[in-house]
Amino acid sequence: MTNNKYKILLVEDDANVRSVVSTMLESADYQVVPAETCALAKTLFASHLPDAVILDLGLPDMDGMEFLSFARRDSLTPVIVLSARSDDQDKVRALDGGANDYVTKPFSSAELLARVRTVLRNYQHRADSGKLPGGRFHVRDLVIDYDARQVFVRGGEVKLSQTEYNIVALLSEHCGKMMTYSAIIKGVWGRSDEGSVKRLQVNMANIRKKFGVKPGGSWYITNELGVGYRMNGEKEE
Ligand code: CA
Repeated sequence: MTNNKYKILLVEDDANVRSVVSTMLESADYQVVPAETCALAKTLFASHLPDAVILDLGLPDMDGMEFLSFARRDSLTPVIVLSARSDDQDKVRALDGGANDYVTKPFSSAELLARVRTVLRNYQHRADSGKLPGGRFHVRDLVIDYDARQVFVRGGEVKLSQTEYNIVALLSEHCGKMMTYSAIIKGVWGRSDEGSVKRLQVNMANIRKKFGVKPGGSWYITNELGVGYRMNGEKEE
């Protein structure tokens, strides 16, 4: 069989969800490789070399986190965690364990497909994700000049403090990926203390203000309360 469809490994033990998600992915022209256990997922991951993985965390034989650490041992294949768990700690654990993103059940097909497109695109352009020649980053009408440490929105410069700039630059380097608070804090301040999350949130509120975002308005950065922030590579659906 030869085709050039993207191959998605779908690890999910619930037959209903598996069927719904498979249909959703196939109608968007992806090839689906289903697995209902963690053990089977490991075998199929090695033999099929999927372009991306959609991973349920609650599996009958092992925790989905087992598969995640297996996949991360020697691959950067994007993994989207699919979980009924609404506990923030699980999301943080999955993201810090190497997951690229997560979707909480129940989810819309538009939401899941947008996440799949984003991780595939970021994976493909990992080497130069959004980066333009001359050390510049570009997504929609946001431009970051890494050499000059300047940020422009719709052609106008946004004057950021050093810390604010460091946060925006870090998120842009991981564009499309949900970054946990602790990952951002580590990247920007190098270490964390009790006030770190609060400090990050205050900085983020200031950045948002400087970007001229209206309250409740959407912009380049999504906040998942209790989890982290993501710079969006494409418009959220
Ligand atoms: Ca399950």
